[in-house]
Amino acid sequence: MTRPPTPATATTPAPEAPAGAAAPAHPALAAADPELARLVAAEERLQADTLRLIPSENYVSAAVLEASGTVLQNKYSEGYAGRRYYEGQQVIDQVERLATDRARALFGVDHANVQPYSGSPANLAVYLAFAQPGDTVMGMALPMGGHLTHGWGVSATGSWFRGVQYGVRRDTGLIDFDEVRDLALRERPKVIFCGGTALPRTIDFAAFAGIAREAGAVLVADIAHIAGLVAGGAHPSPVPHADVVSTTTHKTLRGPRGAMLMCREEHAKAIDKAVFPGLQGGPHNQTTAAIAVALHEAAQPAFRDYAHRVVANARALAAALLDRGFDLVSGGTDNHLVLIDLTGRDVPGKTAAKALDRAGVVVNHNTVPYDPRRPFDPSGIRIGTPSLTSRGLGTEHMAAVADWIDRGVAAARTGDEDALAVIRAEVADLMGRHPAPGVPA
Ligand SMILES: *Cc1c(COP(=O)(O)O)cnc(C)c1O
Repeated sequence: MTRPPTPATATTPAPEAPAGAAAPAHPALAAADPELARLVAAEERLQADTLRLIPSENYVSAAVLEASGTVLQNKYSEGYAGRRYYEGQQVIDQVERLATDRARALFGVDHANVQPYSGSPANLAVYLAFAQPGDTVMGMALPMGGHLTHGWGVSATGSWFRGVQYGVRRDTGLIDFDEVRDLALRERPKVIFCGGTALPRTIDFAAFAGIAREAGAVLVADIAHIAGLVAGGAHPSPVPHADVVSTTTHKTLRGPRGAMLMCREEHAKAIDKAVFPGLQGGPHNQTTAAIAVALHEAAQPAFRDYAHRVVANARALAAALLDRGFDLVSGGTDNHLVLIDLTGRDVPGKTAAKALDRAGVVVNHNTVPYDPRRPFDPSGIRIGTPSLTSRGLGTEHMAAVADWIDRGVAAARTGDEDALAVIRAEVADLMGRHPAPGVPA
């Protein structure tokens, strides 16, 4: 049998490639769609040259990237391993079992569902499993550090359900468990969420579990941000305390964009039914494969080391920022995240974040508890250490990072673009000496 001729486009070099240039990192893409290939290359440069401090972001390994770009993409497999609605699952069933077995072993849970498309649909599936529309649900308010899907008003979870919300104390920036308990006993929610997106301190899962038990509520620990720290032993595990553990796979856990729901055997059926057929159709098998790879990586000794370095870096960065007179919500950090209140610096969070972006220091503006400003132009910036740790930066670099933030925020106030350009060059120099995993050189 002769092979059909390869289509011309597959071997034609991208027309704009200059003579003598390095081979493109993604040759098929460069040939088929040079316009998109250029954008991918530009994003690769951005991720290589900048200091990425957004605490929900990371760099996945080249192996995770490869797994998520495989032909597993081509397969439909509604249902669960051994119980599918499509044939041809000889391999896919094994891939999904590998992922769920690894999740169960890593987190020490009875049951894991790796099919949720992302963290938000995972949380929606939890509501579907345990509540009816109109029921009361409870979570941390978004401006206090919670997540949209914990019952905040603009989210479906706050309009289809009656969301009641707790916060942190004004004086300490810490969760007030007396308030949480009073609210839970008064409102009797079906579901209580703990965890969040801007919480710099250790979450006391046992305290939440005691309150949920008293109130007759299902406790959901949403560890989207800290899953990698939990897996690496750098944050206590919610598993002994929570009825359900929800997590994304793409933050500190350093996997592909996706999510998992984990629970004790008694809730397994309800969770699985809620994900499929309750909420979703076919799982994204290429993502399942990449989750399996990430979980394998997270089970290695090097990952424990990474998780502890993430926390050590965040503590060192917080200390260096305090040294420079910054005001930190809760006064510091126990995890990967630092929330800076810029009120005393007389510059809004968004202005600071945009200036830092021009300086190659990528952060996000964020509300601080009891923020006097509006949510789309709040008083804080949120930073974190997962990405810089993944590219090998250590505590010895955190003074420089704090310095760039300090100078960048000062330049934001005075509109000093030259100062931002100087920082950008210094950042690119350090980043050039610490190549990012998965990003072509
Ligand atoms: C990121 C996050 C989510 C949502 O994840 P998406 O994948 O963005 O939908 C849910 N809960 C918490 C606490 C998060 O940090």
